[in-house]
Amino acid sequence: MNAHTHDRRSFLRGTGRTVLACGCAVGGLALPLASAHAAQTCTAQTAASQKALSPQDALTYLKEGNARFAAGKPMVCNPTPQVAATANGQHPFAAIVSCIDSRAPANLIFDQSIGDIFEPRIAGNFVNDDMIGSLEFACAAAGSKVLMVVGHSECGAVKGACDDVVLGNLTQTLANIKPAVAAVQGFDSDRTSANAAFVQAVAEKNVELTLARIRQRSGILAGLEKKGDLIITGGMYDVATGKVAFAA
Ligand SMILES: [Zn+2]
Repeated sequence: MNAHTHDRRSFLRGTGRTVLACGCAVGGLALPLASAHAAQTCTAQTAASQKALSPQDALTYLKEGNARFAAGKPMVCNPTPQVAATANGQHPFAAIVSCIDSRAPANLIFDQSIGDIFEPRIAGNFVNDDMIGSLEFACAAAGSKVLMVVGHSECGAVKGACDDVVLGNLTQTLANIKPAVAAVQGFDSDRTSANAAFVQAVAEKNVELTLARIRQRSGILAGLEKKGDLIITGGMYDVATGKVAFAA
């Protein structure tokens, strides 16, 4: 039943990248992340603060935010002042594609508030042209510095795709996840939602394919990444621990 424990390692291994561990497990606010940026505060992002933030700093904000969340030490910002501060304009530093799952709201799991992140959500955290258009707005027009695709453990949409669930319009929604199901090799004894390891592998592959699709389908976003103005990366959220495993 518990397939959570392996997911961070396997997801990161799957990316084939070198990873700077965020130190989330040590809990607390002092994270061993070398960065020149100032720690995030409850002050809403402004045009100046957004401009001053590097893509790596923006990613660090997300790592530190998830570490705070997972450690039970969120900033607990009163969002009302941020409503006033952003009334005439927003300058979010990140765009996060995530699932609709009620256990994985990006604002909460990254400990962010009003005006901090764009949060396009869809069952199974895939992207289509409309989602990509939204991301182009977030990053190319509104200046976000990091674009993350975040899958999660125990994903019902992924399980539905594994089981070929048929239900009204959801059938077509789940078709977007089928390429990840097909791309995961092995697990021949059980390729259904009953196999937790298979479900997790498909969820991780789905993040990987979604990232590839973003780069393939958006010259704008791929161009920003190439210029070093945007980090495009993935992650897996563990609904049991509250921790995000970052691919970069
Ligand atoms: Zn889900």
